[in-house]
Amino acid sequence: MPSPNETEPKKMSLGQVLSNVRWTERRAEAEAWTREAWKMARYRLSERAMPVAAAAVIFTVLLLFGALGGLAAFGALIALFVAAAAWPLDWGGDAEARANNAVAGSRLGEADRASWRVVVDAIPSAAIALDAAGTLVHHNRLAAEMFPRIRDGLPMSHVSRSPDLLLAVDRVLAGEGERFDVELIERVPVERRVAATVSRLALPGRSSAPHALVTFRDLTEQDRLSQMRSDFIANASHELRTPLASLRAFVETLQGPARNDESARARFLQLMAQQAERMTRLIDDLLSLSRVEMRVHLPPRGIVELNETAAYVCQSLEPVAEAAQTKLVLKRDDETARIRGDRDEIVQVLQNLIHNAIKYGRSGGTVEIRVGRDAPRGSAGAKVWVSVSDEGPGIPPEHLPRLTERFYRVSAISSREKGGTGLGLAIVKHILNRHRAELRISSRLGVGSTFTASFEELGAA
Ligand code: ADP
Repeated sequence: MPSPNETEPKKMSLGQVLSNVRWTERRAEAEAWTREAWKMARYRLSERAMPVAAAAVIFTVLLLFGALGGLAAFGALIALFVAAAAWPLDWGGDAEARANNAVAGSRLGEADRASWRVVVDAIPSAAIALDAAGTLVHHNRLAAEMFPRIRDGLPMSHVSRSPDLLLAVDRVLAGEGERFDVELIERVPVERRVAATVSRLALPGRSSAPHALVTFRDLTEQDRLSQMRSDFIANASHELRTPLASLRAFVETLQGPARNDESARARFLQLMAQQAERMTRLIDDLLSLSRVEMRVHLPPRGIVELNETAAYVCQSLEPVAEAAQTKLVLKRDDETARIRGDRDEIVQVLQNLIHNAIKYGRSGGTVEIRVGRDAPRGSAGAKVWVSVSDEGPGIPPEHLPRLTERFYRVSAISSREKGGTGLGLAIVKHILNRHRAELRISSRLGVGSTFTASFEELGAA
């Protein structure tokens, strides 16, 4: 009579299925162990064929000459065979290990089984081991992160429905190839592009031993980075192409129609100098950005005092502020505000912020630079900050989260008119990242904007 499991397989719960899988696996292990023990016994007997045969001849002679009773001779012969089959060939030596290898070719021992699992766990990308039937026998932590519903004992189709991947698994298991690379687009839990490699494992043995290894590499981050890189190159070339095109146009005009026009020549040369300056600024900022990016993971080693640095930058930008009829006002903190930092980079941060405040602030207005702290000096997690506030028209809130992106501008025309490159705040952000500092931006339309760089105070508990 068929068992309920056979008649109604679809009604089994997942728990039952898994416990059945485990029970079947244990039974297979017991059978394999018996087979292996039997093979070992035969192997040891065959290795000891000569002494065993000699002993058998001696027993027979003793029996014939009446020195041994029939039952005793028979018992001794059986005991001899059992001992020869069970006694290791060489206690702890190579011979026994070789024998094991010789007979265990068809089965993986428990230690081997554990060792391949450890190898799958150590693979630095998502990895899944499949048995001969295409059922998961093991997966590593990265695979569990990539496929939240993954469970050992389930078929591969429960992990991914990609027809290409399932076909590659079938082909590897059918012995049609050693390795297949496929690409899949996973939509759950988030859309991503994944490269999968299905490799045949040359581990012979029972059905639950791994027959195929599937490894996955998420290409989404790589795609995003290469997209960012190509956007960046496109933006940088566009920014350079514009002044270059106008320079060429001026050169052509001066060589052609304006060849003998003295006043046009003077005017054009001045415009050409402006365009060349713009290109120089852009290249300087691009180099700055790439230098900062290269050092972003190197913690700064120097010590910077924010009051002194802010005073230095204010002094160096005084002529620029004067030209824009803007007043720079510095409000120092009463106490020293020391941070772990790279002075040149902190100077660059303050230069960019104060220069922006002058550029985009109100002509005839004031730019206030303030050094302050969040908690009393030396207290746990104390922060010291520098803020730069202007009285400009302010920034609409929807632009605030994107201001530190490279080449992002609220108004490209206004930025270019004011000599901006669109890279100043990106440089600020990278430098602050290197200093584990935070940039806060607040702005009120018609009132002004405040940019605050906040640092952990040196010596804070
Ligand atoms: P830019 O070289 O264009 O000034 P930044 O990266 O320094 O580039 O700034 C990006 C954009 O942020 C600017 O184009 C401008 O639109 C806006 N911005 C920066 N600082 C201010 C400010 N103080 N007030 C108003 N807008 C600002």
